[in-house]
Amino acid sequence: MWYNLTMSKYILSIDQGTTSSRAVIFNRRGRIKAIAQQEFKQIYPQAGWVEHSPQDIMGSVMAVTAEAVARAGILCEDIKAVGITNQRETTLVWDAKTGKPVYNAIVWQCRRTAGLCAELKKTHADIIYEKTGLIPDAYFSATKIKWILDNVPNARARAERGELLFGTVDTFLMWQLSKGGIFATDYTNAARTMLFNIHTLEWDEELLKLFLIPRAMLPEVYPSGHKFGYTHKSVLGAPVEICGVAGDQQAALFGQLCTEAGDLKNTYGTGCFLLMNTGDKAVKSRNGLVTTLGATLTGRPPYVLEGSVFVGGAVIQWLRDGLKLISSADESEKLSLKAKDNGGVYIVPAFTGLGAPYWDADARGTVTGLTRGTTAEHIVRAGLESIAYQVCDLVCAMQKDAGINVTRLAVDGGASKNNFLLQFQADILGCVTARPETVETTALGAAYLAGLCSGYWKSLEEIKNNVRAGKVFTPCMTEDMRKKLLDGWEKAVKKARTV
Ligand code: ADP
Repeated sequence: MWYNLTMSKYILSIDQGTTSSRAVIFNRRGRIKAIAQQEFKQIYPQAGWVEHSPQDIMGSVMAVTAEAVARAGILCEDIKAVGITNQRETTLVWDAKTGKPVYNAIVWQCRRTAGLCAELKKTHADIIYEKTGLIPDAYFSATKIKWILDNVPNARARAERGELLFGTVDTFLMWQLSKGGIFATDYTNAARTMLFNIHTLEWDEELLKLFLIPRAMLPEVYPSGHKFGYTHKSVLGAPVEICGVAGDQQAALFGQLCTEAGDLKNTYGTGCFLLMNTGDKAVKSRNGLVTTLGATLTGRPPYVLEGSVFVGGAVIQWLRDGLKLISSADESEKLSLKAKDNGGVYIVPAFTGLGAPYWDADARGTVTGLTRGTTAEHIVRAGLESIAYQVCDLVCAMQKDAGINVTRLAVDGGASKNNFLLQFQADILGCVTARPETVETTALGAAYLAGLCSGYWKSLEEIKNNVRAGKVFTPCMTEDMRKKLLDGWEKAVKKARTV
């Protein structure tokens, strides 16, 4: 009995995202006890450049942590462990002694190294894909680090003397939260730097030479569930152990309990992120998907296939703010149901080109099938359906690449609250879509990792037993109708494409 009384009751999950930081306190049943969120400034020094102030990142994390703990009405002794999940690829370089960053954080969206990456694509695409599973792009950290070393006065000389450290946001947070005590990252974050060999599970010497990055700048790499070290007592009042770290998409995959080969999840946010666990097999994609690493507690991390849709929920923002056909995103559901069918209308929201499996940067958006009978409802419905078609294209590509037949798609993200969208997705895929009760899957994934590694939860089974089923959408469309709609989509995509 005494054991129960003194047992820590909660897990703190810190979710450091692209536009905001959140702290979530989870209880033993994996339910949210308290949550706090704070947005911070996006810095655009030039067209296409995106930065964050490291002070803003830290300040918002400290503020939401304090707020969530206060809202939960708990003491630091009540927190068994801390989990961290973060915007991936975003790059920081700081002084190894003082912790002072030498430059702002260069955000994953920042295109400042796009020229260099276009060159690399011509000369080193194969070797980079072989080693890292990635297609050379300015998203990934490698060229951002190089940019800092090449452009910040003295940075390269200092880095070569071992005076500077590099980290993605997880590493920076751990270093700051431990006052320099922890300099580490996890496989899921390391895999997005374009410097980490996902087969040997080591920083790759050849790539470090290619990008002229000194090895001494790089953190140690561990599984996502790992006892990384303790937060400094000033953070929570007493030291608390950090036991789980994963990049946001892989954290969501774990939060959805996609721990077996063939499990996959889609996050419907501004864009969509589809990730499939492929177990111990590093699947090579013939459709331009990237191969990366997933979260694990012990041993080798699972391989993951990843693809993204550039314009997902953003098409609903366009219907609302651009066309003014709806006044809120929620309204799209009601109007779509009112339309009964798409009236032959298809929208291909290739506003910034088409990604996997088409890879056509010059493609632009199209609306096809307009007649005198087309209504606003048809257009809105075509907008929602376009999200599902794009995800369907990605799922099909993944199925082909992995040789796995998908029977269930776990879903989350802002647009996943739209029941019409999820039913249409199930119909068009011909497989079940499943929305969990807690859609905070990113924070939950980091909490699961921290909770399992610290012994707060004994096993995945214990967690699974506590998960309350959310809503499951079962396909109910006839095969003929499905074929007809997919055929219409294919024709619309052809019209949008330039290659
Ligand atoms: P992000 O993390 O990318 O900022 P969120 O997960 O918060 O995105 O989701 C926001 C996106 O979801 C927006 O693009 C918005 O248009 C869309 N969205 C929100 N609610 C709905 C809804 N009920 N139906 C369709 N889309 C929605």
